[in-house]
Amino acid sequence: MISRIDLRGSALAATAAGGGLDRDLLPRAEFDVEDALEKVRPICEDVKHRGTAALVDYAQRFDGVTLERVRVPAEALTEALEALDPDVRAALEESVRRARIVHRDQRRTDSTVQVVPGGTVTERWVPVERVGLYVPGGRAVYPSSVVMNVVPAQEAGVGSLAVSSPPQKEFGGLPHPTILAACALLGVDEVYAAGGAHAVAMFAYGTEDCAPVQLVTGPGNIYVAAAKRLLKGRIGIDSEAGPTEIAVLADDTADAAHVASDLISQAEHDVVAAAVLVTPSVALAEAVEAELKTQVAATRHHERITEALSGRQSGIVLVDSLEDGLAVVDSYAAEHLEIQTADAAAWAARVRNAGAIFVGPWAPVSLGDYCAGSNHVLPTGGCACHSSGLSVQSFLRGIHVVDYTRDALAEVTHHVVTLAEAEDLPAHGAALKARFDWKVPQSK
Ligand code: NAD
Repeated sequence: MISRIDLRGSALAATAAGGGLDRDLLPRAEFDVEDALEKVRPICEDVKHRGTAALVDYAQRFDGVTLERVRVPAEALTEALEALDPDVRAALEESVRRARIVHRDQRRTDSTVQVVPGGTVTERWVPVERVGLYVPGGRAVYPSSVVMNVVPAQEAGVGSLAVSSPPQKEFGGLPHPTILAACALLGVDEVYAAGGAHAVAMFAYGTEDCAPVQLVTGPGNIYVAAAKRLLKGRIGIDSEAGPTEIAVLADDTADAAHVASDLISQAEHDVVAAAVLVTPSVALAEAVEAELKTQVAATRHHERITEALSGRQSGIVLVDSLEDGLAVVDSYAAEHLEIQTADAAAWAARVRNAGAIFVGPWAPVSLGDYCAGSNHVLPTGGCACHSSGLSVQSFLRGIHVVDYTRDALAEVTHHVVTLAEAEDLPAHGAALKARFDWKVPQSK
């Protein structure tokens, strides 16, 4: 079911040292964010011009729902929290509690440095004023993503936050009740029933119901990720947190049953989710293949999982050594990377590219999905080589505040004038000279 990619004999670590492996060597998706861009462009344009009417049409087309209104009424939020199963409430509260511990620690304090006597630069951290938080709800629903979006935004001090999640047919066009309950639990009262690319466009352009936001965060399917890429610039985004990926770097000390169950756990998200095992151990590869055969058949979503595992984005990659395996996972830059090897912490410390790293046998990705305290909104599609997961920092801007006295400015003026002349931008230098009636020789 899952394919094997044999990279043994390829001297991968040496190749990677020269600037990364050829991405074509690695398992990769057939349909990626780049391809989805052209599909979401007309949807976003339509929402820009027709607002709520377009959202209603797309809810009909993609979600099979006739929407009466896009904004969720306040009573629906309260009722959802009242009706929430007490066990689910307790689990959500624990998830929130742990996420707050981690995200509160990420808060930044302003810092001032004296560059020269009389010259200071302060870095002031200011939250984005209004943000749109996307909570997926297509194949599965993700109340956990309410926690992962809202907690860092609140800890950052964002003043205005709105949540959007797809309308669900069986709940009368509202988002899933557990999502509404999670919003109510966290004190969020602005919630919309919109999913996919059109929800991102709603946040970016605004509609009759929803004021535009400055930043959109949150995970979603390939269309959500593509809309974020398309509208980036008009809005800020966290990262492209698209279809889930798990990579496992393992040796023959790993438990094959656990490796298989972790691969399955992430394949459960989506038919285009990626599950990749990288190992120098043929024995482990064979044992994991056997485990997948028996375990997948027993899962509730075995069709979706089978499709995800047999897709081109998933595979078991055989390498000559863990050193080569490290080169592979670094080039792949997975959203989630598990290290299941002897001395796992030491290997984990050498990883350069991953959204989040799960070290050893007792830190499976599912823990991070819900209750590790870490954030589960993480970069996918190789974006982990340049982007980070969602955090308090995602909601903050660092503003430099420059404060110089007359003497401090006078002391550096000749350098500024020289650099301005070197760039052929003499008016820059003139702006300083004017303050001191200062004459410098004109260049010939
Ligand atoms: P979703 O809410 O992201 O997408 C469902 C919505 O997509 C539907 O409501 C529909 O309106 C819209 N849609 C469907 N077809 C479309 C099309 N052709 N064009 C435009 N919009 C369309 O929910 P999902 O589909 O279940 O996907 C959730 C994804 O989020 C999964 O891939 C999962 O792996 C991923 N995820 C990622 C992370 C992360 O941090 N990277 C975390 C959690 C979940």
